[in-house]
This record gives sequence, structure tokens and C-alpha cells, in this order.
Amino acid sequence: MAKKQFKSESKRLLDLMINSIYTHKEIFLRELISNASDAIDKLCYISLTDDKVPMTREDYNITISTDKEARTLTISDNGVGMTAQELESNLGVIARSGSLKFRDEMEEDVEDIDIIGQFGVGFYSAFMVAREVIVKSRSYGNDDANQWVSQGSDGYSISPCEKETIGTEIIISLKEDTDDEKYSDYLEEYKLQSIIKKYSDYIRWPIVMDLTKSRQVESGELDDEGNEEMIWESYTQSETINSRIPIWQRSKSEVSDEDCAEFYKEKFSDYTDPASVIRVSAEGTVSYQAMLFIPSVAPFDYFTREYKAGLQLYSSGVMIMEHCADILPEYFRFVRGVVDSQDFSLNISRELLQHDRQLKVISTNVEKKIKTELKRLMDEEREKYESFYNSFGVVLKYGIAGSYGTNTELLSDLIMLYSSKNEKLISIGEYVESMSTEQKYIYYASGESIALLDKLPQGEQLRDMGYDILYLTEEIDEFVVRSLGSFNEVTFRSVNDDDLELEDDEDKEEISRQEDENREVLDFIKEALEGKVESVKISSKLKSHPVSLSAQGGISLEMEKYFKSMQSRSDNVMGDIRAERVLELNPSHSSFSTIKQAYDTDKDKAAKYAKLLYGQALLTQGVPLEDPAGFSELISELTFS
Ligand code: ADP
Repeated sequence: MAKKQFKSESKRLLDLMINSIYTHKEIFLRELISNASDAIDKLCYISLTDDKVPMTREDYNITISTDKEARTLTISDNGVGMTAQELESNLGVIARSGSLKFRDEMEEDVEDIDIIGQFGVGFYSAFMVAREVIVKSRSYGNDDANQWVSQGSDGYSISPCEKETIGTEIIISLKEDTDDEKYSDYLEEYKLQSIIKKYSDYIRWPIVMDLTKSRQVESGELDDEGNEEMIWESYTQSETINSRIPIWQRSKSEVSDEDCAEFYKEKFSDYTDPASVIRVSAEGTVSYQAMLFIPSVAPFDYFTREYKAGLQLYSSGVMIMEHCADILPEYFRFVRGVVDSQDFSLNISRELLQHDRQLKVISTNVEKKIKTELKRLMDEEREKYESFYNSFGVVLKYGIAGSYGTNTELLSDLIMLYSSKNEKLISIGEYVESMSTEQKYIYYASGESIALLDKLPQGEQLRDMGYDILYLTEEIDEFVVRSLGSFNEVTFRSVNDDDLELEDDEDKEEISRQEDENREVLDFIKEALEGKVESVKISSKLKSHPVSLSAQGGISLEMEKYFKSMQSRSDNVMGDIRAERVLELNPSHSSFSTIKQAYDTDKDKAAKYAKLLYGQALLTQGVPLEDPAGFSELISELTFS
């Protein structure tokens, strides 16, 4: 039979397994048992709606057997099985691109350890211990069976074979023992038993093994004193090795945080410990148990369509749905975990589940628990929260911005923004707490980067007064702030707002006196700018800069920029939305006296100065110039001629 070649990615992973120097090769058994358990889950799931499945729940099991002479270890299950086509597509190409990608990022010498130990590597891990692997399988609904045979990287073959029952049998021919590695250990009962206990104790289905026992029996002869002589006899007995109680059904005292983290990493293919584990055991109108995990980092596919959000639903330990998204609000879709309730009916349909009252109750509770835990993390374990927030903060932000105010109450406590004063992320609550009594608003500035925002002229006065400014550097941030509107009754205010309300009455009078005095020039500048600005004002905000640009009304300059970028992506009419611009002039800057002088003597030149100042204001604001060449000419003309 012609050998088929592994696809290149699979071959790389396979080579990594075959040549592995990993010291805990025993985990191959965990991987194969986990696959077997998944296969049983699948058939059991099918049987919920298909009464032709010949098995009842009690019949399912995974058996482990050995043949010392042949040096083989066999793992069998009576799960869903695989067709020839599935053997080909599941075992010939293994789509573990996530783990491979991860491996590429690692240093050469640690790659092996990390990828195998933490990620789990699936079926191919058998090649860490196997000279040859044979997979015999008969799929549910098919009468014929097929076998997949491979000795490693030179390829594999698939051919018909005999197999009476539905399910899969994996026969591993162990490698020869070496000085470093005693592969024949995997033929020993005690060794196998301890590996199963260690890694697969929570597997729901019985893992059955023939164990050698001994007992005393009568020999049939009498001893010297005339009593029946007893001798030891060994016999074999089939026993279930694992305790089978799912980890989430065990009491908190029985299961450590490390156990939960291990379970999480294996089940949800993450290589980082979760930031948090939430355990719920509820009794009452709805009784259920849940074990939820808040990841520390986003999985590689999180922001793609491939990511499937949702919690796993179990009915007394039997999985009834793999990704139940209805139970999690969109803004907590990063949470992973399981919910198990004896109140769920085993054969409830997906549609019914959506309207299920119990599910609604659970979903409300789960949401509250997640919120509480996130807040606790933020308050008590800031570093962990920051790591989480780096990955998922944007999801929370979209939760606020996308909900038109409905989730703001819930989520506003969890948002962190960059504090210019503290030079790090802080919560909005922390900002408000640190405000002095005379500060009336939560000030923020939005722009492309912290470095740019630090130089924004509008912030000068605030900074001088010792006020903190929140820097918004992500597109979504301004929408968050606008959706929130206020926090604990303190309103947000952009530094680009034309009125920051920092002046006392005396200052205000002084400004309006100066405006009256310079009314003609100000009107002239507005005129010269040909409708580009809504008004021209004297500013009290500016210290060293000549001008700044602000916006009046509901649309900020940042929003205008954002809408423009949306338009370039699609034919969106929003691109026409413009901020009402206000040009603010610094009356104590020499530019102001220069333009005033020109106004008296040379109106043409004064109009050019007006354009120059406007261009400068755009530049400091990070708004693109409409006519850069014209602006450059202006500079030459006014400075070099
Ligand atoms: P994973 O389990 O993460 O998907 P594996 O490499 O372990 O990756 O297995 C690849 C696929 O082969 C599985 O997704 C499953 O479809 C199939 N498979 C493996 N073992 C079995 C089994 N015992 N019974 C049925 N299908 C199996």
C-alpha cells in the first residue's frame, strides 16, 4: 500500500514529538484518553436525538490494556469512531497551528518543554513513546472499519480492517528502552494506574484496566496441624481507575487553585494560567455548579471569526452543548468555563435553550459573579488585572460604546484609562477620588499617542493647575467616554472643548474685555479663514503656544477624524460630519501683536498670518492640513521674505 505523506505543518509537529527530549512523556496517555473521552461525548450527544445508537450511558468506557511480549499498549473507546476519510483528515493533517505559532516565538531550546508540557499536543504525542502507532476505527453509522498505520515521519497508510464494535482502538508499539528512558514502564500496571490518576482522574467516563490481584485460597491440602492449608493465588479483575467526578463538582477544599488552572489549560488549550477562577455552587430556584475562568491573555484566534465564545453546558456531568453563547453577555465573551445543572434536560434543543428560564437565571448570576471578580482583581491584584486588561480591555470598552448606555453602570467600574499625571492606567474611580475640591470635571484628551498628547497646548493650563488628564489613545476610547457621559455624577470634559470652565469670574471678565477690545481683528481672522472655523476667541488656556483648535457642540475633532476614517473604509455618509471648530488665540504671545499690527497696516498680510496660525493649530492637533504645499509657501513668504 502506498504511503501518504504528512502535510508539512503536521510533519513538523510530528518530528518535534519523535525527537522530543521532554521528560514527562507520560502525558501522551492523557492526550489519548482525552480524545477517547471526547469521542464518547460525541456519540453520547448524538444518542440524545438518535435512538438507533446501540449504547446506553452505562456502556461507555475507555479501556487500557497491555501485551508485554508484543510490547504494545492499547487504548480503546466505544465513542463515535472515524471513517477512512476522517482518519485521513484528522490524523494526516493536524491543525494545531496555534501551538506551532507559539513554538516559533519561543527560543529553540525551551520550545520542546513549553509546547508539550503546557499546550498539550494531542494525538501526535503518542510518537514520543511509540515506534509504530495503529489506529483502528469504526465510525457510528458505518459497517466497515479502517486502520491508520504510521511509524513516524515517513508517512502513513490507511486500509480496511476488522473491527466488530463502534469506536476506536489505538495500539502503540513502544520504542526500545534506552539508558535514559524506560519505555517498558508503560506496560506496567502500577505505572499506568498512577499516570491515569494523575492526569485523567476527572474524565467522566470509566477508564477501565485489568488489574492483577492476589487472594488466599484453600490449597486442598492439610498442614501439619491438620488445618486447611491456604495459598496465595493471583487473578485479574477489571477495575475503574479514575474517580470520575468532574473537577467542578468537587468541593473547594478538595480542589486547589493549581488544579483548576491545570484543568483550564488542558481543556481550553491555553498555555498561561488564568487570571482568575470563579467557582459557583448554587442551590435554590435553579441549582447549578459552575467553574469559570478569566484568561490572562487572549487566545491567538480571539479577534477572528474562528473564536467561539460561550460556556460549556453540562447536565449532571454530561456535556449537552459545547459553546453556549447565550449564557454570556457579549462584553464578557472572553470568559471560558463550564456550567453544570441537573435541571438542564439532556435532550433540550438549542432553540428551546435560548428561551429557557433557568438559563436566564444562571446567565444573570454568572454575569454578576464575573463583574464582581473582575472588580476584585482590579482592586486587589492590579498586576493581574492589567495583564487581563491589556488583552480584553477593548472588549469591555466596546461593551460600553456599543450598548447606548445600557451597560455603562455595570462596566464603567472596570474601565482603565491612561493618567497623564500617574503615567499609567488608572480607573475612572481613582481619577475622581484624586480630584481636588475645586476641580469640576474629568478632563480628557484624545490623540494618537501619549507623546503627542503630552505636547497638546490645550493641556498646559490644566497641568499647571495640577489637574490630571486622561489620555485616550484608542479610537474606541472617546466613544466610551461619550457613552458614559459622567462618572459618579462628575462629567467628562475634553481639553479640546472651547470652554473648560477653569476661569473664575474675574478671569472671564478679563477675557471678554480683551475680546471686545479686539473684536474687529477677531472677526477679520474668522473672515480670512473662509468658513473653516465657527468662531475665533481669546484663550486663557494657552501659556507658551500661540494658538489651539477646539470644538464647540457635540462633535469633537477626534470624532470627526474617526468618521472620516470610516468613510474611507466604506461609502459612509458619516464622513461628512464635521466638528465646529473654534480657533483660540494666545493674547500674550508675540504672534497676537504681530497679526494685530498687520491688521492696522497691511490687511493682506494679516489674512496670511491668520491662515498660518490656523495651519499651526491643525498641526499641533494632529489634524491633516488641507493644502500642505500652500501652507509651506505661506511659511516661506512670511518668514523669509
Ligand atoms: P484535538 O483532540 O485537539 O482536536 P488531536 O490531534 O488529539 O487534536 O486529534 C485530532 C482529531 O482526531 C480529533 O479532533 C478527533 O476528531 C480525532 N480523534 C482523535 N482521537 C480520536 C478517537 N479516539 N475517536 C474519535 N476521533 C478521534
